[in-house]
Amino acid sequence: MKITEQVEDPFRKQTNALCYFININENPKWLVNIHGRLAETLKQIIKNTEWNEGEIRIINTHGLIIADRIILVGLGNKKKLKSDTVRNTSGKLVKEIQHIGLNEYTVIIPEDFNEILIQSVVEGAELSTYNFNKYKTNKKKIPELFILGHNKNINTIIDKAKKINSGVIFARDIANLPPNDCTPSTMAKISETLTNDKLKCRILSKNYIKKQNLNGIMSVGMGSKNEPKLIFLEYNLKKNRKPIIIIGKAVTFDTGGISLKPSEKLDEMKFDKCGGCVVLGIMKSVSELELPISIVGVIPTVENMPGGSSYRPGDIIKMYNGKMAEIINTDAEGRLILSDAISYSEKKYSPNSIIDFATLTGACIVALGTNVAGFVANDSYLATKLNESAERSDEDIWRLPLNDDYMNMIKSDIADIKNTGPKGSAGTITAAAFLAYSISNNTPWAHVDIAGTAWTQPSTKCRSYNSKGATGFGVRLMIDYLINTEVKN
Ligand SMILES: [Zn+2]
Repeated sequence: MKITEQVEDPFRKQTNALCYFININENPKWLVNIHGRLAETLKQIIKNTEWNEGEIRIINTHGLIIADRIILVGLGNKKKLKSDTVRNTSGKLVKEIQHIGLNEYTVIIPEDFNEILIQSVVEGAELSTYNFNKYKTNKKKIPELFILGHNKNINTIIDKAKKINSGVIFARDIANLPPNDCTPSTMAKISETLTNDKLKCRILSKNYIKKQNLNGIMSVGMGSKNEPKLIFLEYNLKKNRKPIIIIGKAVTFDTGGISLKPSEKLDEMKFDKCGGCVVLGIMKSVSELELPISIVGVIPTVENMPGGSSYRPGDIIKMYNGKMAEIINTDAEGRLILSDAISYSEKKYSPNSIIDFATLTGACIVALGTNVAGFVANDSYLATKLNESAERSDEDIWRLPLNDDYMNMIKSDIADIKNTGPKGSAGTITAAAFLAYSISNNTPWAHVDIAGTAWTQPSTKCRSYNSKGATGFGVRLMIDYLINTEVKN
């Protein structure tokens, strides 16, 4: 989306639509600059409309000012104004602009909007025009947005928002790819496109994965002819500086393996790569924003298929960290590939912290629904900082407990651990417990289960900026975290 900042007088601006936000019971100051019949009409409309969140009125100016139309957009109660209200409303506005077929529009930023609200205008506008149209012949036109505002940093804010959007859109675009067009090799090829002076990409292929005894990744991947990969994206690595590690599960298609899933909604299992796509989106934004941090994105990627060479329920696998794991269910594969990625990264990079994203458990939807991601952490500072970022970015997360009782629930009778806990009992936490066994040096670690939030599902709340399909949930959260959290090296 083309977005341009201008410092023009709105009433001298030649535009299809001059758009103003308006709160409940607001008496807009700019009205004094409009006279005669148009002023009377506007006053009447303002008085007779409630201005709830997203309520839109379009007024033709009939040549009484230079702009063709004035569009008023409700923001609801000013006291309850959140950045998400602005993001959602800005999105509704651009959808209306597309609906009436305008190719450009102008948004006036209210004087009292702070940086976060201005950023939300840009996020809402651009993310709401997102449409996965790679496989469509008719593509919807995206209008150009002009922004008029008073904040002297407005250009910097727009630029920052655009670079965050770029990561979200990248994550969505890859996550929405159908499984026949996105195998583990495709994930690797896409990762390579991010390479630049500061960002290096290393890819471990099947033979190396086998040689390194990354048996969790190897076992899950061996049922498919599309071979597994382990991807590393190293950004700004420096000697004597511990990097942050972000890991994302990328099962490009999850049939469940020998523990085959039922066919209902099986097509949605292309979204089992969303964790890895979020990592790609984060790395793209980090690199475009040139953040002054060291960070490594790690993506274990496999296709989980049933076949003659698949791993089986009953198998016992020696994980990379040496733990023996009994396989109870081959559909609980995410924790196996993540566990290896966690242990390997912890050993190789001695990181500052590890945060992983995964569409890991259906149990997370049972517990929290489809608008809040579950998370566990072994470190309260990390948990607090993630919660603060969730609050600012409106990507909601909720911390779940993880204590020895849960760790004991996945102990196996015949091996060290098993890959599922007791049926119907804290499935999200026992999955996290499996991952917790992979941390050996007390590295601060958080695991975010995005099974409910990674793509839109029937119970997903309606937000203009989330189009159908992948949401890119986690990119805005993590970029906020990486910008605002002082990383103690
Ligand atoms: Zn699975």
